[in-house]
Amino acid sequence: MILPGVPAPNLAPLLGKETLKHRGDVAYRAFATRSLLNRCTSRNMPFEWTVNPYRGCAMGCRYCYATYTHEYLGSTVAEDFHASIYVKRDDPQETSRRLAVAVRRGERIALGTATDPYQPGEAEEGVTRRFLEQVAQRRGVRLGIITKGAVILRDVELLQRIQERNDVSIHVSLISLDTPLIRRLEPWAPPPEVRLEVLRRLAAAGLDVGISVSPILPALTDREADLDALLGRAAEAGVTRLASTMLFLRSPTREKYLRWIEAEFPRYLEAYRRAYAKSAYLTGPYRERLRSILDRLRKKHGFLRDDAGRQSMQRFPGPPAQLQLWEPPRPAAEPATIP
Ligand code: SF4
Repeated sequence: MILPGVPAPNLAPLLGKETLKHRGDVAYRAFATRSLLNRCTSRNMPFEWTVNPYRGCAMGCRYCYATYTHEYLGSTVAEDFHASIYVKRDDPQETSRRLAVAVRRGERIALGTATDPYQPGEAEEGVTRRFLEQVAQRRGVRLGIITKGAVILRDVELLQRIQERNDVSIHVSLISLDTPLIRRLEPWAPPPEVRLEVLRRLAAAGLDVGISVSPILPALTDREADLDALLGRAAEAGVTRLASTMLFLRSPTREKYLRWIEAEFPRYLEAYRRAYAKSAYLTGPYRERLRSILDRLRKKHGFLRDDAGRQSMQRFPGPPAQLQLWEPPRPAAEPATIP
């Protein structure tokens, strides 16, 4: 994982020169790496290792905080993160060696912190699958998976096998039931009804599955009634855990997201600019109010407290927020239809 304040390594020599494949407008290239497992040294993170089978992500989320990782590959255009995907080619022996180290030390592994491990390309490339097959050969791995992708259903049987001898938890990310809004925000991710079905099938398969309502977007996905409906559907699907974080905006995501707000929701642009003028995090009364809403809904729908999500909600100090900031009149919701 690449962390704020850490000098950017030059990764360009690791890039494959040839394009493996084009899928629509997305180009896939090879990326040589010693291991799929990378050490995470930040004490703020609730894990010690990360696995990101790809660099870049074709889901296209407007708010994606991982966009900056493409800068280390020489990219200067934020949108490249979604259009130019690097498929990792590791040395399986080195990945296996690091996996053994993580098991021996009881360290936690997060799969999918800077890319979606089940983005569309995974159906053919299978990098995530190959990593999980290594995990399945071991005992005592502590693994957390975060995804929006329905391709995870391909691996249900493999995940069940892993769960028999290891500690594996899965979060499916879904921030709203509003399908037209989700299509604008996360243009190439599965629609909400598909992700609810993914949650239902994972839970029915006996896997430890939670919903990640992350990030909550001020003015767009923060209404209590909408969150209530979303968590109600997740609970019906058999989900038992909830993680959530607020929108985090730093460059180049900040500029990219604000360009999108300006084009799609210009009435919120000034409020966003003010709220994120001094910090990448939104804190203060707005954040406290949102936290109390989530606590209320967590109890109402019977979700267990998710420690990782709680930590990320509580960790960051920041400037006083404007309580009234996000309360301009909002348009009526568009009817939710499944494409
Ligand atoms: S799914 Fe995750 S990694 Fe992929 S674009 Fe969306 S936020 Fe970024």
